[in-house]
Amino acid sequence: MNLRRLAGLDILSEQYSYGHDPKFGYVASSKIADRWVRTTCGYCSVGCGIQIGLRKNRAVTVRANPDHAVNFGKLCPKGLSEHYTMTAKNRALYPLLRKNGRLTRVTWNEALGTMVERIGDVQARNGRESFGVLSTGQLVTEEFYALGKLVQLGFGTKNFDGNTTLCMASAVSGYKRSFGSDGPPGCYEDLDKADVILLIGANIADNHPILCQRLERNREAALIVADPRVTKTAMMADIYLPVKPRSDIALLNGIAYVLIREGLVRRDYIEQHTTGFDDFARFVEKFTPEHVARVTGLEEELICRTALLYGRANAAFVGWTMGVNHSTQGAETVSAICNLALMTGNIGRAGAAPFSITGQCNAMGTREAGFTSSLPGYRKFDRADDREELATIWGIDASRIPTSRGLAYPDIIEAAVAKKIRALWIIATNPVVSFPNFDVLKQAFENLEFLVVQDGFHPTPTTELAGLVLPAAIWGEKEGTYTNSERRVSKVNRAVEPPGEAKPDFDIFLDLAERLGVRDELFPNWNQPRDAFEEWKRVSKGRLCDYSSMEYEVIEREGGIQWGGSRLYEDGRFPTEDGRAKFFAVECEPFPEQPGGEYPFIFNTGRTVEHWHTRTKTGRVAILESMSPRAWLEMNPKDASRLSLKPHDRVTVISPRSRVDGVELRVTEIVAPGQVFMPFHYAEANSNRLTQSAFDPISREPNFKQCAVRVEKTPLPRKAVSWNS
Ligand code: SF4
Repeated sequence: MNLRRLAGLDILSEQYSYGHDPKFGYVASSKIADRWVRTTCGYCSVGCGIQIGLRKNRAVTVRANPDHAVNFGKLCPKGLSEHYTMTAKNRALYPLLRKNGRLTRVTWNEALGTMVERIGDVQARNGRESFGVLSTGQLVTEEFYALGKLVQLGFGTKNFDGNTTLCMASAVSGYKRSFGSDGPPGCYEDLDKADVILLIGANIADNHPILCQRLERNREAALIVADPRVTKTAMMADIYLPVKPRSDIALLNGIAYVLIREGLVRRDYIEQHTTGFDDFARFVEKFTPEHVARVTGLEEELICRTALLYGRANAAFVGWTMGVNHSTQGAETVSAICNLALMTGNIGRAGAAPFSITGQCNAMGTREAGFTSSLPGYRKFDRADDREELATIWGIDASRIPTSRGLAYPDIIEAAVAKKIRALWIIATNPVVSFPNFDVLKQAFENLEFLVVQDGFHPTPTTELAGLVLPAAIWGEKEGTYTNSERRVSKVNRAVEPPGEAKPDFDIFLDLAERLGVRDELFPNWNQPRDAFEEWKRVSKGRLCDYSSMEYEVIEREGGIQWGGSRLYEDGRFPTEDGRAKFFAVECEPFPEQPGGEYPFIFNTGRTVEHWHTRTKTGRVAILESMSPRAWLEMNPKDASRLSLKPHDRVTVISPRSRVDGVELRVTEIVAPGQVFMPFHYAEANSNRLTQSAFDPISREPNFKQCAVRVEKTPLPRKAVSWNS
């Protein structure tokens, strides 16, 4: 603090004086913009329309697009402070190469030259597939599409996946099993039109807050929320179903049982548009309300009332997020949800949908553009005609396109532990905090010969371990499109230049292609994201996710365009071999690590509205960080009393794998006895030190939601341990 400030002569008037904005009236003069750039929020998959306010070419504020079809002029706390991310102190500014153990500033030429040389060397010695790539739903679709081509056809490895596997893979797999393709069939308008809304494992009040406006608006609908924890969303419910952890499959099968018993099924829809119903009906005979009550902990009456409401609705909507996906049975649970929609014809109509609410701003774009669990445009690796079609568009020999998917995210990490993956390129994600069972990840990283991390932020717990850090532009600094949860393709625009020497990911990919000698072949005449978009339009033409009639300017003007229209499957035809959707019999299995003995609590993880994923962005936004500055552990008062723990005590959480010390205790009935909850955002109190290596065998998504822990008072006052202690 300077002397003038100490003496009270400097009142920081530049920062705090008021000015008059023609639209908003009196506001901080530092936030009065002289220009606005329309774009789309870069956090979650709701996809809110947002405008960045610029003053002398610096981003000084944001506001919602007042007439946007998604958010109608509203933003959540993260959106409202998003401009601060661009000027955060932890932005990555220069390429950094590890020399003599230290990350050292180098030129882009040296950085990318070294990357191509060292990865080439690793591949020459160990085979092409010894190189793995982990990407993200933070890229614009144009970048993701370019990256897929670069990785699979340029670097020649199929071991490519993204952080979307930690988030949405179960929804993708479940949709593919039941309907023959990925793609959420409904839209946000269905929340306005439904007369029953059932949310399962979906705390949208914290995670997709702007969607709550729709729940508030549709007061006629019965809102039913199934969640082991009394979340903010559960508090909004007309009926709250406090299911035991991972008993949602029993609940769904139990609802199906009651629907059949009460004759609340649409026989005509089932006969014309589905297969497998009779076997399914026989399978659910054992899911009587008595049985389901025992498994779920719910009263029989509540199970029957939920089923009757759902079955008698004109239009019933089921929404889910991570409570379903983050499970070793995630894909199967999605199929169980789709069963309900199919047996009641609650699909392809206004208000009626089995709807996966996606996670990241462009998780959907990565799902469509493919290269991971499917080929671009929801094509299949194992179909020769799909590969031929792509090869023709790309002007390459079809034999260069893989015939099966490469390793999924957790399998890339396991392969690094086994020294089969020797070099890894991580783009805009922070696995040190976000991947389960940190010790396994640590081992994987230690075994690598070369780790490249490309990110908009440095240091992060992951960039600190890198051999090479590539500084990337972030939201507000680059152009392209995002697709939100309702398949709405929205325009993303550049408002400012990236700081330092940071570059858009798109430019980095093209530069690497040049160095690999594949730019002219794979990216002919490409210079900007629009060039990728034009090719993507041709690649997606005729597919379920058809962009071929879209233009940047129209997307911008309309506030986004939904591929497939408002709803998929309106005609009851599905993209399966026989055009019919499938019923699946799904057993309800216990989660892999049951509580008991030394570890009596079920450990649950999740999010809070103020933060985004691992806080590389929101941890440096002062207003968000001050609202939620540290991790906490929620424990029921009965358990706290038994353990002689008080609110605000610092506790240690211990699982069979590791421990996290010094977490603040919240004693609250939000969690049931025998369960504890901790947010997963905090590197300093990393919940993924405790979680286990258990993955859905179909989707490969981690089981983040349940493992066994014990809780003890932290013996001495101490700061929370750091992520790498
Ligand atoms: S709800 Fe999601 S998209 Fe909308 S402002 Fe918040 S973070 Fe952004």
